[in-house]
Amino acid sequence: LIRLENVTKRFGDHTVLDGLDFSVDTGKHVTLIGPSGSGKTTILRMLMTLTRPDEGTITVDGERLFPAPPKQVREIRKKIGMVFQQFNLFPNMTVLRNVTEAPVTVLGMSRDEAEARARELLELVGLADKCAARPSQLSGGQQQRVAIARALAMRPQVLLLDEVTSALDPELVAGVLDLLRDIARSTDITMLCVTHEMGFARDISDQVLMFDSGRVVEAGSPEKIFGDPEQERTREFLGAVL
Ligand code: ATP
Repeated sequence: LIRLENVTKRFGDHTVLDGLDFSVDTGKHVTLIGPSGSGKTTILRMLMTLTRPDEGTITVDGERLFPAPPKQVREIRKKIGMVFQQFNLFPNMTVLRNVTEAPVTVLGMSRDEAEARARELLELVGLADKCAARPSQLSGGQQQRVAIARALAMRPQVLLLDEVTSALDPELVAGVLDLLRDIARSTDITMLCVTHEMGFARDISDQVLMFDSGRVVEAGSPEKIFGDPEQERTREFLGAVL
């Protein structure tokens, strides 16, 4: 479903991604792990077209996302949802409006249909009673649940999760991870996650990619990567975080 070929990204003279190749099959859950600054977030941002590669190609569902004409990029972007570390909700809109806005403005859904769907999703994430609240009235964990509902409202084929629990108080982390485990189990959505939560990565992943310095150092099943990694760099990283 997603294919990156020879993707290179530089910021000034710092090469953040260096001829990166990898692909994610439809319906799979792939987790990116690795040290801070190794380029994991940059990959998700490129798929979300928030930043552009300097070289290489990115394909989603058989169509070019990069390089590609703007109209094609807009169409492919509709297939991809993202949840950010810092929630990024619209602060001046109610919870319900946060979840209905993009389906109405981007997909052209009627407001009634978008609201019905948003109420279902808010129920799913355990916030049915918060429709009229503003983001600032919610806890971080609740805000992140709204952000997850907002991403799902677009019925994306791909869900990108960027360290979605890093900004949460420790006691709120488990609830959000449980919700994501449920979503991973009960939908056929393709997931690409950057996470420092190794237990979560082990539970939901079909494949784990260990990153370092803009390259995939090692890729394999969670059993392999967490149980019997081949690369010294992977062992060293896991030794430091587990
Ligand atoms: P973390 O776990 O800390 O988020 P990461 O593996 O996700 O790390 P990235 O956020 O992708 O890493 O960043 C990779 C490198 O690119 C870092 O060294 C970062 O400082 C640099 N970088 C990212 N965005 C920019 C930018 N807009 N301008 C300059 N440098 C950037």
